[in-house]
Amino acid sequence: MTQYTKIDKKVDGIIKNVKGYMKNLSPDFIDVEIRKAYIFAKEAHEGQYRKSGDPYIIHPVEATKILLSLKPDIYTIQSCLLHDVIEDTPRTAEDIQEIFGDEVAFLCLGMEKLSKVRYKGEQREVGSLRKMFIAMAEDLRVVFIKLSDRLHNMRTLKFHPKPEKREKIALETINIFSPIADRLGLYNFKNELDQECLKILDIKNYKKIKKQLKEMEDSRESFLKNVRVEIKKILDGEVQDYEIDYRVKSIYSIHKKLTKKGIDHIEDLHDLFGIRVIVKDLSDCYRVLGLIHNKWSPLPYRFKDYIALPKPNGYKSIHTTVIGLLKEHRKQPTEIQIKTYKMKEYSDIGVAAHFEYKEKGSSIVKDIDWIKELKDLTQNIVDSDFIGSLKIDMFKNRIFVFTPKGDLINLPHGSTPVDFAYYVHTELGNHISMAKVNDKIYPLDKELHNGDFVDIIIDKNKIPSPFRISFLKTVKAKNSVKSYLKKEDKELHRERGKDIMNKYLDKLGLGVFDKDLSLLKVIDGKKYSTENRWTLLEEVGSFNITPSILLKRIIKSNKIDVKGSEAKALDSAKKKKNTHKRKVIIGGEANLKYTYCQCCKKQTLDAIVSHINSKGILTVHKRDCKILRDVNKERLLPTYVEGYESQSLEFSINFVLKNKIGMLKSLTEILFSMDINIEEIISKKIGNLNTGLSLKLVIPDYDYLIIDRLIDRVKLYYGDDLVSHSLEKIMH
Ligand code: MN
Repeated sequence: MTQYTKIDKKVDGIIKNVKGYMKNLSPDFIDVEIRKAYIFAKEAHEGQYRKSGDPYIIHPVEATKILLSLKPDIYTIQSCLLHDVIEDTPRTAEDIQEIFGDEVAFLCLGMEKLSKVRYKGEQREVGSLRKMFIAMAEDLRVVFIKLSDRLHNMRTLKFHPKPEKREKIALETINIFSPIADRLGLYNFKNELDQECLKILDIKNYKKIKKQLKEMEDSRESFLKNVRVEIKKILDGEVQDYEIDYRVKSIYSIHKKLTKKGIDHIEDLHDLFGIRVIVKDLSDCYRVLGLIHNKWSPLPYRFKDYIALPKPNGYKSIHTTVIGLLKEHRKQPTEIQIKTYKMKEYSDIGVAAHFEYKEKGSSIVKDIDWIKELKDLTQNIVDSDFIGSLKIDMFKNRIFVFTPKGDLINLPHGSTPVDFAYYVHTELGNHISMAKVNDKIYPLDKELHNGDFVDIIIDKNKIPSPFRISFLKTVKAKNSVKSYLKKEDKELHRERGKDIMNKYLDKLGLGVFDKDLSLLKVIDGKKYSTENRWTLLEEVGSFNITPSILLKRIIKSNKIDVKGSEAKALDSAKKKKNTHKRKVIIGGEANLKYTYCQCCKKQTLDAIVSHINSKGILTVHKRDCKILRDVNKERLLPTYVEGYESQSLEFSINFVLKNKIGMLKSLTEILFSMDINIEEIISKKIGNLNTGLSLKLVIPDYDYLIIDRLIDRVKLYYGDDLVSHSLEKIMH
């Protein structure tokens, strides 16, 4: 058991450390303030003990020692010492506020709120993450304390008597706290948290890796010593003031990599350790890189310039992997990281490096865009949908793309040109009509990649379609589309309903509505006033009824001979086409350059499709062409020879979805936005929880790919709410 005197000594150590880095405050002030918090906490926790048998106060003190690596301000240190007082002792937030002031009380209350963050399996994890995000947006310092608290608890978790409880806490750490540490660039925290989890969850592998590392220690040391000599040889005289050190991959990342690659021994990992060259300034980074590449060959694809394109959490460095650093290890690849002292500080303490001390020992964060964004976003948190996308925003890697002027824009991975447009300006997003990426026309729903140049072309007549929500990645874009759609008024629904119905009528050869909407005069034997006729169209325009249902009622009520009119429509369409030259229409465009595939040389007229390669060259293939078997389906474009597009395909698709209000409506929205004709739609309850939706769809033959895209989009839109689906082609 640790004695109080020993704990007092630890506090002396903390005070000494703080005096060392906090030069803007008087040493006496630091001494008094820290001791005041320590004594208050010690008295409050009097009589409480840890599972290890130690007095409880050892926990906040150890947590504070961990916290010090982030060079926290005085208030954060006091709050860390006091962090369990409100939750676990009779002392209240008011007591703390009276003695330590508003800021410390605020941080302690933040900790108390976060004490309710619990891991309850995948489903509930989102709620806990949400709490963390709100805390982060309110004040990052609360999260620093929380992570220090958690790290000390993990270090001492072995004292917990119940194995299932230990496991639960480890899972909570690996699913919530470690990703947060990673996101904030607190790599030392993340690595140690992960390592402690591995000890609990998979002690066998932990021990195995540790043993292997130990066995390699001697040879690793000598390798690194020699490498240092080699690098010094080429840098001396060329670069002033530099340091060389190295880092060994963390046990948890080694474990992950071994599992992923299915290998057993760490010897087979070539990024087991990395050399770091730390230099004075930016230009030295590139000078060192040049000197190194001059002497040793870099491995292609392993070079990463995180200075030009920093990681989303702000990490900057140059990484390169070279081979043959030492003659006796000719083929050994070694990673070299090149960074300035400032960048190194960031890679040690992440986001905390952005803190600036104010007078009186308080500090504030500056210059981090995504923290500011987070603040805006958390202010209007409403539904789980939002949290879902927030989670994606924060945790998936982010990409960097450029405006035509070369401005850097940071978006979540998977963002589309529409997300980009909304990021730049809401108007740009609302009226986007086309996107050019790296000077080529690019699908609006296709994901952008790192380094893309994106140019948005707008058309004031275009407005957002509700379907966009299913492919947008950023919260901002989704919210903008939703709020735009909400603003739509009655008139707009009516006009849209009329447009939709006109398309359907025209396809049947029935022309379009006249001014009086005469076709709607009598429906199902009932007379409709002009106002009521418009209401019918409004229903279609707001997606409350499907166009084909209204169409059927029109046909029945007006006793229209469908077969006859269809034939007429087809006839006139054919006539129209025969007067044209035969054009190949690719992706809806008539004048694109293309070539025919070599093996499909005999030019066929139907069942064709185009493939667009990475250079943007279009090749027309037969659909069953062998070459297409292994290509990315995303790169196929619907294609037909003009005059040969009239055939259609019929599919029956069944979706089983979890019951939710508006489910049918959103499905019709997706279909409408994709311009897919619904022949029939039947919904049927399955048990208490699910609903089955059976659709009969008719699509033009050339657009056969749309069915796959539809299924993808439905999956994306409904997520876990889609229980199952099946597809069947109907032959005639
Ligand atoms: Mn605690």
